[in-house]
Amino acid sequence: HRLFGPSPLENALQKVHEALKDIDDGDPSHSTLALEEADRDDFGIVIATADGHVYEAGDTRKCFSIQSISKAFTYAMALEDHDHEYVDAKIDVEPSGDAFNEISIDPVSQVPANPMINAGAIAATWLVADGKGKSRRERILETYSRCAGRELDLDLDMQQQEHDAGDRNRALGWLLASVGVIEGDPTEALEDYFAQCCVMVDTRDLAMMGATLASGGVNPLTGERVFQPETVERVLSVMNSCGMYDDAGDWFVRVGLPAKSGVGGGIIAVVPGQLALATFSPPLNRQGTSVRGKAACERISQAMDLHFARGP
Ligand code: GLU
Repeated sequence: HRLFGPSPLENALQKVHEALKDIDDGDPSHSTLALEEADRDDFGIVIATADGHVYEAGDTRKCFSIQSISKAFTYAMALEDHDHEYVDAKIDVEPSGDAFNEISIDPVSQVPANPMINAGAIAATWLVADGKGKSRRERILETYSRCAGRELDLDLDMQQQEHDAGDRNRALGWLLASVGVIEGDPTEALEDYFAQCCVMVDTRDLAMMGATLASGGVNPLTGERVFQPETVERVLSVMNSCGMYDDAGDWFVRVGLPAKSGVGGGIIAVVPGQLALATFSPPLNRQGTSVRGKAACERISQAMDLHFARGP
């Protein structure tokens, strides 16, 4: 089909891009200078299918920090490194309705509500084991790379900025240590968490990472199994209920797909067995969700009948 120009799906994505590119609501994250200086006009949309086809529109090759989208993949690693019961004893799987950085430990269970808010995400990073001569941080970067199907890198300057702005996350780390979720000093896990947030991806990488989840843990391009199907089932379930923080309800009504946002402006949404949708646009709503990204996901979900509640 390439000989004859863009495919119908790519045409459709271009139309969505065209229709939404002038939305000017929201602001890039103010949490670090690097995030604040993002180009608010950048806007990319990619669909990657579970059998390895990629369709794109807009600024799909611009790199940005993965931020909290990392949480889904690090939680997957924690689940692969330990028994699920052990992970469950450290991190619950209940939607909190809290903001991403809420100082939250459930008063009764004394564990974080879920692995998608920072408290649970820092615990998940702590759970990732060192192994085979590799540090936790190296393993994280390597695993994300296997999901993307290419070697990803950290932005060290951004990482330093996350460290400098990290007092609230450090508070969460020490709170986790105080209730025994993190055993011992949380400092190294916190630094690894800052690092994982600063893995640089473009929209296409995100879509491939999502497609790896859509295909049950196998990267559709490389054919490599990165995660076991039971891990992916768990991760997608938690993304479904908790991936969008206090935007989770509105997101699910509008888009109806498991998803994860990051304050770098990225979003992934996954249709299990079929495809992943990834968007990038830095201006965020109050809950830290990319405004154009959410609008694009809603349009595409509606147009392609992807919403979970859509009947035949
Ligand atoms: N680096 C951010 C933090 O931990 C990530 C937040 C997000 O992407 O939602 O505060």
